[in-house]
Amino acid sequence: MNKIEALVRPNIRALCPYSTARDEYQGKLGIFLDANESPYPTGYNRYPDPRQKALKEQLGAIKGLPADRIFLGNGSDEAIDLMFRVFCVPGVDNAVAISPSYGMYAVAADINDIQVRNVPLGPEFSLPTQALLDACDEHTKLLFACSPNNPSGNAFEPAELEDLIRRFPGIVVLDEAYADFSDKGSLRGRLDEFPNLVILQTLSKAYGLAGLRLGMAFSNPYIIRLMSMVKYPYNINQATQELVSRALAQPIGDNVATIVAQRARVAAALPAFSCVRRVYPSDANFLLVQVDDADRLYAHLIADGIIVRNRTRVPLCAGCLRITIGLPSENDRLLKSFEAYEKGDIHR
Ligand SMILES: *Cc1c(COP(=O)(O)O)cnc(C)c1O
Repeated sequence: MNKIEALVRPNIRALCPYSTARDEYQGKLGIFLDANESPYPTGYNRYPDPRQKALKEQLGAIKGLPADRIFLGNGSDEAIDLMFRVFCVPGVDNAVAISPSYGMYAVAADINDIQVRNVPLGPEFSLPTQALLDACDEHTKLLFACSPNNPSGNAFEPAELEDLIRRFPGIVVLDEAYADFSDKGSLRGRLDEFPNLVILQTLSKAYGLAGLRLGMAFSNPYIIRLMSMVKYPYNINQATQELVSRALAQPIGDNVATIVAQRARVAAALPAFSCVRRVYPSDANFLLVQVDDADRLYAHLIADGIIVRNRTRVPLCAGCLRITIGLPSENDRLLKSFEAYEKGDIHR
């Protein structure tokens, strides 16, 4: 057994996955009397492709990866949950994670009865490599890192991530949901160097398809096969497969560039307000902003019809609001609302 295989839950290693009769039939024009579907066309009377072959080819061409290195999930959230289900024995194994970071790691861990050991980021939200390694024991299977990180907004240096991945004895799950907004790029082109790496990306942010629920995991073919074995057979519905395929065929345009330019503009404008103590550098499509009285400003913004995320009770984020970069006109309204707050009145 190799090192990666040894990390897999024994019952998953031994699993015989659900198979469909259609797995054995490769043609297109057969008469399908195998799945108890309705024969009457509604556009959706057939089960969708459980392997999402066409969509993986299309995404693979965009991402520069072969289909056997791609897992597609009902959002990244499905891939996060599958990491626990594939690698962690409930009540026995554990995971380590940077903190603060994305809330779903802890939720998925709790549901699977897996302990998460949260390791605070270092000064200036830096990657706490040694502390992450020190938090591990013989039952640590997973390490969650997120770059650019939510909610801190910063991306870690690729060389630091590389060092962490090489030194960590389990599986590193690197969440790159915001990579398209950063010039530090993605590690997905270097999967061959890191057999213990799983990269998560999503169509929910830069691609503007949050409503369709499509998350991606990139890894070696062995780990992708394990995830595919454990997932529900028809996890990506027909409508999502079709609509995503259609959306990917369109040019994505310069929305990402506009958001990055607006991020710089809002980040430059905010420090002029006396309530703003600090705007943290961002490699993502949001800004983490530290202010004098986060709860009061948050309440003002809500009253003004602007919903941001109050992160003041999150570790290392005291006094912070997380503000997504919107349309230029929405960012104008945000800045106007800060002005009104400083003048002590509310714009409606
Ligand atoms: C938004 C976000 C995701 C996306 O999750 P989906 O389920 O794919 O919509 C993943 N990771 C992080 C850190 C996020 O902030």
